[in-house]
Amino acid sequence: MRLLHFPQDARLLRRRADPLPESAFGTDSLRIYASELGRLLVAHEGMGLAATQVDFDPAWRIVVIAQGSNYSALCNPEIVSTRGESWATEGCLSFASVPEPLPAPAGLVVRYRSVDGKRREVECDINGARCVAHEVDHLNGKLIIDRMGELQRRIFLGKVYRRRRAGDDDVETPPS
Ligand SMILES: [Zn+2]
Repeated sequence: MRLLHFPQDARLLRRRADPLPESAFGTDSLRIYASELGRLLVAHEGMGLAATQVDFDPAWRIVVIAQGSNYSALCNPEIVSTRGESWATEGCLSFASVPEPLPAPAGLVVRYRSVDGKRREVECDINGARCVAHEVDHLNGKLIIDRMGELQRRIFLGKVYRRRRAGDDDVETPPS
């Protein structure tokens, strides 16, 4: 699997992921799919990665979240409640990890299934909430730039393309 980059992979990044069917849980193919996402997350030193960010089609509703040097996989994640708002810088692997100040929930509760199908519900604090909200947006085809006004988006994309030209990222420079 390869990490997708904006704007060259915009069509795939805009996909809406499909819910994992009951028959997928506990299978080797789901374990391999999740571990491949986890491997990419660790290799790119990200905080989270969603299945819509890799070149595997169709994309299933699964995100991986970094936990130290390891990760956890959340299948069919559903945000059941959010609270408050916090401002902090946030980046996205598909946008050269350029940090940008953005609001996000200060906390949230997420319900999901493990790769083995176990039902879990977890309350996330400030950093976890930002990360989970970002990744669940990805599963719905929503990107970090959709949360910006037009001016902020232009400045942000300028920084993304400059960082790639400077060779800090492993992709070609998109046409500007
Ligand atoms: Zn992202």
